Amino acid sequence: MQVHNVQEKIGQLKNQLTYWESHLKEIQNKCNHDYQTDSFYKKCLKCQKTEALYY
Ligand SMILES: [Zn+2]
Repeated sequence: MQVHNVQEKIGQLKNQLTYWESHLKEIQNKCNHDYQTDSFYKKCLKCQKTEALYY
């Protein structure tokens, strides 16, 4: 496989990653969160969004 092809593939995957990350963010933004609290973070049972409990 040529380096050029590999770079092209990496570029495509990065685009897909950006797409899916924004898609996930959209779902999580619409979610009516149902958090389960752990010692250091809370996690939504519906959309898996996690938030740290201290900053
Ligand atoms: Zn949620």
